[in-house]
Amino acid sequence: MDRHIMQQIKDSPIQILQKIYGYNQFRGKQLEIINNVITGKNVFVLMPTGSGKSICYQIPALCRNGIGIIISPLIALMQDQVNALKELGIKAAAINSSISYRDILNTQAKMKNGQIDLIYVAPERVITPQFIDLLHNSPISLFAIDEAHCISQWGHDFRSSYQKLTVLSLEFPEIPRLALTATADNATRKDIIEKLNLKDGEIFIEGFDRPNINYSIIEQNSAKQQILKFIQDKHFNDSGIVYCSSRKKTEDLTKFLCQKGFNALTYHAGMPDNHRFQNQNLFLKSEKVIMVATIAFGMGIDKPDVRFVVHLNIPKNIESYYQETGRAGRDGLPSNALMVYGTNDVVLQRNFIYGSNADESQKFIEHQKLNALLGLCETTKCRRQVILEYFGDKCSQCNNCDTCLTQQDSYDGTIAAQKAVSCVYRTGQRFGIGYIIDVLLGKEDGKIFRFNHNRISTYGIGKEFKEREWKSILRQLIAQNLFSVDITGFGGLKITSEGFRFIKEKKTVYLRRYIIKDKIKVKKVSKPSVVSSAFNGRETALFNLLKSKRMQLAMEQNVPPYVIFHDRALREMVLEKPKSLDEFAKISGVGENKLRKYGRAFMDIILNDLEQV
Ligand code: ADP
Repeated sequence: MDRHIMQQIKDSPIQILQKIYGYNQFRGKQLEIINNVITGKNVFVLMPTGSGKSICYQIPALCRNGIGIIISPLIALMQDQVNALKELGIKAAAINSSISYRDILNTQAKMKNGQIDLIYVAPERVITPQFIDLLHNSPISLFAIDEAHCISQWGHDFRSSYQKLTVLSLEFPEIPRLALTATADNATRKDIIEKLNLKDGEIFIEGFDRPNINYSIIEQNSAKQQILKFIQDKHFNDSGIVYCSSRKKTEDLTKFLCQKGFNALTYHAGMPDNHRFQNQNLFLKSEKVIMVATIAFGMGIDKPDVRFVVHLNIPKNIESYYQETGRAGRDGLPSNALMVYGTNDVVLQRNFIYGSNADESQKFIEHQKLNALLGLCETTKCRRQVILEYFGDKCSQCNNCDTCLTQQDSYDGTIAAQKAVSCVYRTGQRFGIGYIIDVLLGKEDGKIFRFNHNRISTYGIGKEFKEREWKSILRQLIAQNLFSVDITGFGGLKITSEGFRFIKEKKTVYLRRYIIKDKIKVKKVSKPSVVSSAFNGRETALFNLLKSKRMQLAMEQNVPPYVIFHDRALREMVLEKPKSLDEFAKISGVGENKLRKYGRAFMDIILNDLEQV
């Protein structure tokens, strides 16, 4: 049939969205992006996690003739993506090393005949001559390059095979290319556009804000207990991720959380591959599971119902922090990001930068980025404002972070800072935080006597603050760059040029007041999940029944539960209580295929509940 006529009889993007995906309307710039690709234009898409980038290439692939080739970095996650599409009734497949040769041959034959809608493939395979050959012999509708920031050495997930994707524009200049990412600074954007040859294309950049995520940053006093309390109080029934700075810490914390009755798993790069994949799979396919991981975990994880992300130690910089916390709440429902940080972390990160193989200018950049992160930790401003401003974006006070939601008590800390700077100066700028505090508090300590520091003018002049308060003050002064930490030795504090200026120019500093809390008491209470917290008792019971049905179906098909229905859809079922299949079809996320496959099973549960009124 003539290509033009074929295209005319295909459904329009909105019809596909409604019929196949079961969503009512496009979000943000989705439709504009889709229309550009349908007309054959190249596009670059920078949109936050959870904003719906996948639909931007899936729908054009369904509207255009031929197969959409999706280049995706993680083989381990391709099958889940394919399964999710199959659940919608879309003909999708993956080609990678985990798939049998027979299945690959079968898929390749289907490609040549145009009997498939979407193919997922890793960049390493796409660029091989054999695959290029296969592409030349198949009808191709578009190339989507997911996680496109991997192309750039500036980005944090550089992958050399991504750079070779330049071949696509040379071999298939007529076929539209979409580059998609949630994270790319200016240099990375330039790299993506250049390497994929998108100069003539359209650029879509959407704000970075993730309004459904609540941001909190607290000072560390007993990290394990703080995390336990957070999970007990807010996420007793939820799935989440806890990031730790070392493999050992992930193992310790997993053990601790399991002892406390949680279903916690470990993930780090030192584990055997099969164990790692098994844990990743369990995380994706189970409910109420906590992944305790190093930053090796997370890229490409599109589990929509991750309700919390905790950082047990400070991350590398604001970019990493935002990307890692961005894994919470992809479904748009309320989620929490908590960071627990202490001074040791700062020293550790500084040491890490200092000891890396990077050249001096790169190290300087990394130190600056760490300073910006510390600024975020110690700010008395809205956290979201600080984060978004860092990315060149703006927002008004968010009312969904700890500084907006709790009264932030800041005070004029000039005198305390003067005492601290003076004490560091008089002790020779070579002692660490603990020693400086001992001198300020006038402790009777052998070491102090040995160095005669009980004779200096700053000995005992800081008794108005307790030890923990001084720790907070010194950390804030490091964050405000009055002190640097000598990372070549034993963490001695040095006064920076800013610190000397502070004294000389009689500047003022404001500090966040440290509130001493009594020992944390963790109560064993089962709180409802964030998702169901607005439900009454009967609604909670119905929600749980729907979840069990979803789990049963998911297990039967060996797919993650969210592939059947998202929490969001179950929540809507509870609140809307559809009385017929027609009404059920109106629930967001119920497309034609899912209605046919699951409508009856879920409606039976809802009708049963309605009858019991
Ligand atoms: P991203 O790749 O940008 O992180 P996804 O493509 O995974 O985001 O989409 C996040 C979630 O939002 C998915 O569950 C997706 O089905 C859903 N979604 C996407 N577009 C829409 C829409 N127009 N209406 C409702 N839900 C949508």
